[in-house]
Amino acid sequence: MRVAVIGGGYAGMAAAMELALAGRQVEVFEAGPVLGGRARRIEVEGLVLDNGQHMAIGAYRELLRLLHLAGVAEQDVFARLPMELDVFEGPKRTMRLACPRLPAPMHTMVGLCCAQGLSWAERWAAVRLMGKARLNGWRLAQDQSVAQWLAANRQPKILVRCLWEPLTLAALNTPIAAASAQVLLNVLRDSLAASRAASDFLLPRVDLSTVFPDAAARYLRQLGGKVHTGAMIKQLQKTNAGWQLDRSTLPFQQVVIALPPHRLGMLADGIAALATPLAQLANWAWQPIYTVYLRYPAGTHLPKPMLGMAGSTTQWLFDRGLLCGQDGLMAAVVSAEGPHEAWSQDVLATTVAQEIQRSLPNLPAPLWHRVIAEKRATFACYPNLQRPGNTTSDPTLWLAGDYTASDYPATLEGAIRSGMAAAHGILS
Ligand SMILES: Cc1cc2nc3c(=O)[nH]c(=O)nc-3n(C[C@H](O)[C@H](O)[C@H](O)COP(=O)(O)OP(=O)(O)OC[C@H]3O[C@@H](n4cnc5c(N)ncnc54)[C@H](O)[C@@H]3O)c2cc1C
Repeated sequence: MRVAVIGGGYAGMAAAMELALAGRQVEVFEAGPVLGGRARRIEVEGLVLDNGQHMAIGAYRELLRLLHLAGVAEQDVFARLPMELDVFEGPKRTMRLACPRLPAPMHTMVGLCCAQGLSWAERWAAVRLMGKARLNGWRLAQDQSVAQWLAANRQPKILVRCLWEPLTLAALNTPIAAASAQVLLNVLRDSLAASRAASDFLLPRVDLSTVFPDAAARYLRQLGGKVHTGAMIKQLQKTNAGWQLDRSTLPFQQVVIALPPHRLGMLADGIAALATPLAQLANWAWQPIYTVYLRYPAGTHLPKPMLGMAGSTTQWLFDRGLLCGQDGLMAAVVSAEGPHEAWSQDVLATTVAQEIQRSLPNLPAPLWHRVIAEKRATFACYPNLQRPGNTTSDPTLWLAGDYTASDYPATLEGAIRSGMAAAHGILS
């Protein structure tokens, strides 16, 4: 059986690996020059950067499994750090949350009970919320916004600002006033509340195409599969022999469409099976992520590879010198919508640099900056969002991508799981 995978992001490459492993003849068609999609390597003035600074967590079980299958040692691509959140707000460190090496869920509970910068009442409020969520099986009777859920559970302002809001933005890339509390609970269940290793931070040590998609392509080729880059598919046509892709000579019996959701429409012409998923996507909104790369004089370092920042435009700051050997290079992440979208890139970079300077006054001024704006980084993860499944009304046409129905928000792990789900559908 010949299977075509359209889109060489994390979802498409996961689908391709699973299918090749099961003996299918797989060809991947990727429009761009490199694999990885929204999590891909880019080159800027001779520097190898990412389309956006990413982080993973230990709960990304399927990503780690596929890395292992592709022969990639975790420590070669990720720095695994125990969950430690240092959140700065202006000139002082406001909160420090570290989960000790204890069995779950003690590690989280003890971590919250000992969080620095919080009063006993504030710590207790966080412990109470996690305990209640666990008791309720991490399910809400009715989905609501994270802000409503936090208010209903009387979370103090400092906790909202320094813990729940940064976590929601990191995981769901949607402001807390609009983000789904149920999806946040799913993430908490599998990370903070699961095994201690699940809440570890996995910070990339290499670019995001190297982390997984390039390794997946090598694996695929070893099994006789093909990966075409620079191969944008513009048309899909069903013939008696199977699916004809505009660049292929031989038809395919099965097709996995692993495009970003806003690109699905480009293949829809004459394909009735895409009408339902497209109707579901019609009213979706998208959220941006800006990554501001700042180069400081050589030898400049943050106190840690990753810091949180509250009450500012920047939410997370990564030291790519400590992580990737790019001495003096920092990546500041600005998630979700906000007034910064109307600013020029220079204004955004200057604002971010000033915020960093306020929190870390010993840092010198940056020498260079570059802003990478992803306007449609993820779908807006609203409460009760109906997401398309992996199947379509045509049993030979499948969907994969971080937007398809799952417990997870738009993340690398969500994309990987969607690819696996599409592949397992074909195989079954
Ligand atoms: C800036 C940024 C920061 C992020 N940070 C994190 C993070 O820290 N942690 C995390 O887990 N997730 C993060 N995410 C989300 C994560 O990157 C995505 O969820 C994931 O990469 C989506 O993978 P995908 O395969 O579903 O889609 P995509 O990566 O969008 O892949 C789709 C592929 O299809 C290709 N394509 C499009 N049209 C065609 C066509 N006609 N023919 C052939 N190919 C085509 C595209 O070029 C692309 O390669 C971030 C995203 C962004 C943008």
